[in-house]
Amino acid sequence: MKEFDLIGNYFAKGGYVRKDVLLGIGDDAAVTKVPTGQCVVTTTDTLVEGVHFLADTAPEAIAHKAIAVNLSDLAAMGAEPAWISLSLSLPSIDESWVKAFSEKIHSLSHYFSFQLIGGDTVQGPLSITITAQGFIPDDNQITRSGAEPSDWLLVTGCLGDAGVGLDILTDKVIVSNAEHASYLKNRHWFPTPRVLAGTTLRRVATSCIDVSDGLIQDLHQVISRSEVGAIVHLDKLPISEALGKNIENLTDALTYAATAGDDYELLFTVPEEQRVYIETALASYNIPVTCIGQITGAAGKIDLRLDEQPFEFESKKIGFEHFS
Ligand SMILES: [Mg+2]
Repeated sequence: MKEFDLIGNYFAKGGYVRKDVLLGIGDDAAVTKVPTGQCVVTTTDTLVEGVHFLADTAPEAIAHKAIAVNLSDLAAMGAEPAWISLSLSLPSIDESWVKAFSEKIHSLSHYFSFQLIGGDTVQGPLSITITAQGFIPDDNQITRSGAEPSDWLLVTGCLGDAGVGLDILTDKVIVSNAEHASYLKNRHWFPTPRVLAGTTLRRVATSCIDVSDGLIQDLHQVISRSEVGAIVHLDKLPISEALGKNIENLTDALTYAATAGDDYELLFTVPEEQRVYIETALASYNIPVTCIGQITGAAGKIDLRLDEQPFEFESKKIGFEHFS
């Protein structure tokens, strides 16, 4: 395993360095210090080739996605990122692959101010497991369980782009406009974790989740944990110009927006008195946000409307289910 140990050299240097890391990569374990008044939020996610990303995806995109999905989970809790641990399983040693992968992680560490504090590299099928830890001021976490009837339902960014991007890559959809096609593929490869939106939602949002499995499926998580229901106005779903102009059939466009996963936008609820505040605060950071519906007392029920009329998707497929 000596050659695999060498790979560690790529990760030990070049990344962002934090003062709260007393001992980083290089010893048996890392030592970190939690600032006074902060709680640690921990999440972990595994990406496996062929399940979570296509074979032959560029190392930069795999690194980006592995980090982004974890930071997105922290963002959904209102946490800011601090420390990352990486476990990398590689079929063989390809130094240029490892170099590109590690450089992407380092550049993200500088952008999001996290430090890579440890990891492990083994030989096996290509898979990446990342554990991300972040901070929230004591007891300010945003959970899935606090939504109340009459709260507004909002979402950041646009929905459905990553799903179309994946379908372009797998030849299920043809988008002839090169600029749009490239935008949609990049939304699949390089999702933006909504870290700043997450911290802005602290003490304001009553619930939050990141849209990883598809809007409807993720909304189900919120309403079942909160024991409420929701009305979703499908005509209000934020759809990018690239999606809207190239997926001309309205039902197809709505299916992407409501059921395709991997957009990593934040879906959250706010009480009436906080709605203008949060819309203004997010706008001041140039984070698009759209109100798409409202929480109801009809526990467990999602009431889909299109132009005020009840609407049902023909497809039984609501969101991406792992191993399905
Ligand atoms: Mg999540």
